[in-house]
Amino acid sequence: MKRLAFVLLVGALMLPAPLTRADTKIQAVATIPDLADMARHIGGDLLEVTSIATGVEDIHAVPMKPSFAVLLNRADVLLLLGLEAEHAFLPGLLEAARNPKILRDAPGYIDCSVYITPLEVPIRIDRALGDQHPLGNPHFNLDPVLGKDAARAIADGLSRNYPEYASTFKKNLDVYLAQLDAAIARWEREAAPLRGVKLVSYHPDLVYFAERFGMEAVGTIEIRPGVDPTPSHIAELEKQMRQEKVDLVVRELHYPATLAETVAQATGAKLVELPVMSGGRPETKDYISFIDYNLRTVLNAVQSGPRAALEPVSPQSSRQQPGS
Ligand SMILES: [Zn+2]
Repeated sequence: MKRLAFVLLVGALMLPAPLTRADTKIQAVATIPDLADMARHIGGDLLEVTSIATGVEDIHAVPMKPSFAVLLNRADVLLLLGLEAEHAFLPGLLEAARNPKILRDAPGYIDCSVYITPLEVPIRIDRALGDQHPLGNPHFNLDPVLGKDAARAIADGLSRNYPEYASTFKKNLDVYLAQLDAAIARWEREAAPLRGVKLVSYHPDLVYFAERFGMEAVGTIEIRPGVDPTPSHIAELEKQMRQEKVDLVVRELHYPATLAETVAQATGAKLVELPVMSGGRPETKDYISFIDYNLRTVLNAVQSGPRAALEPVSPQSSRQQPGS
């Protein structure tokens, strides 16, 4: 749907918010479930939060629904991942929602990337090339240490809008950060076998995760973020993967399975399928269980034996080496 048509459609649907709302809780809308979960911990009973994405979507292509614009129209604050991750849907939804409280630069626009130093900041930005990461890689939510920075941004953003509750947000933040710190200490111990493990993912979703746990993200099936692979790119990638003995191919669940399977088979790497937000799998109902699931899934793959031997030319036979 063209943006103007979308704006008009939403305008027609938008009814005044009911005056009989049951309570006066802060109405928050998060773009992804990770941020909604953090906001629930930090806002406690003071806040009600809804997430636009459910966790199974591509953050760069969440379908715009009129109901999201209605939700945003009634929001007091908006929590977003930032770094233009939501570029494909958020500007259009905000235009349709016509809510000055949550427009960019308004106090209710809470950008959760403000304390992040992004990786992979491009030297040249050219959207015509399909680049989905104009301000650097926005997938920092897969690193729980950076998740703490997002939680801090939420607490600070809420306090900016509701200074009367700042001490409550701070107290709740400290409790949540302590929970995260305990989980992070455990994850860092458990991740020891991942040191030096090389991976290729479909899209560069795993860059922060890999850096956190000592892995090496050496390439992507996409040519660039948002640019589909070509046969020549895949051939080069497979060659590089064989040379560097890449251990894992990660398919983020919203990307097609076949190509990731083919690349894994052709190079002897193991295939791992991961969600990129909480809610992307039934086991990932909140942020901590999401990180837990991803780490456990990667560990299981790495510990399930060595990567397949590469000697046989046929991808089929290489995949079925004994002991793999
Ligand atoms: Zn991306």
